[in-house]
Amino acid sequence: MSILTVRAISKTYGSRFGAAARRALDKASLDIEEREFVAILGPSGSGKSTLLNMIALLDSPDSGEILFRGENPRSGGDLATFRRKHIGFVFQDSNLIDTMTVRENILLPLALDKTPAIEARARVAELASALGIADILDAYPVETSGGQRQRASAARALVLGPSLLLADEPTGALDSRSARDLLERFRALNEERGSAILMVTHDSFAASWSDRAVFLRDGRPLTTVNRTADRKEFLERILAAQAAADEALR
Ligand code: ADP
Repeated sequence: MSILTVRAISKTYGSRFGAAARRALDKASLDIEEREFVAILGPSGSGKSTLLNMIALLDSPDSGEILFRGENPRSGGDLATFRRKHIGFVFQDSNLIDTMTVRENILLPLALDKTPAIEARARVAELASALGIADILDAYPVETSGGQRQRASAARALVLGPSLLLADEPTGALDSRSARDLLERFRALNEERGSAILMVTHDSFAASWSDRAVFLRDGRPLTTVNRTADRKEFLERILAAQAAADEALR
């Protein structure tokens, strides 16, 4: 069964300050299977953030539906609790709390979830080791590098074992070496722990770590490129699809 089903969702933002109404999503559909790593690519304004906000349950579509393992989280129960248990988030800027150490930041979701202290400490240690941040757990975010902050942010997002990790331009503010390191760790975590990942990016290189690159244009998926064993070849096919999609716009 799909972990996530996005079925024909549309969203139009109302006119503001005399501007015309904008259709951000136009009957967009997308399925993500358990353990899949999907990259959403698209130019600015193609609807990527709107789609991510809908999937994150931060906003609701005008029509269509979003199902998690076949169920609509809006049909009952508390959305905030559902979100905390099932969805992890990583943003372009790490969003760590500056007055807390890296360890305290990662412990926060566990505290909200009332996880016993011994188990919480063990989970933080395990994830910190998988993400290569064990040596900075007692540092404050300002004392760490951008790449370390993103890895800490990923640890915080994954510490409750969500079935889906949503990442919005996670490598957008990183240098290429830190970006590559984060993507390699995403890939390994996805393979070893089985959280599905949905990553929004405008970067073909970042997308080449996924299983499937979906191109968004004018508020709906236009083309999909599936991974092959060789990542470089996958990257070339992503770049070719990108060029073809750009050409179609002219
Ligand atoms: P992307 O993330 O791919 O850049 P967005 O989802 O942010 O695309 O935007 C899609 C379209 O919807 C754009 O035309 C944008 O101007 C419009 N839009 C997004 N958010 C709002 C909003 N809160 N109010 C009005 N228009 C919006």
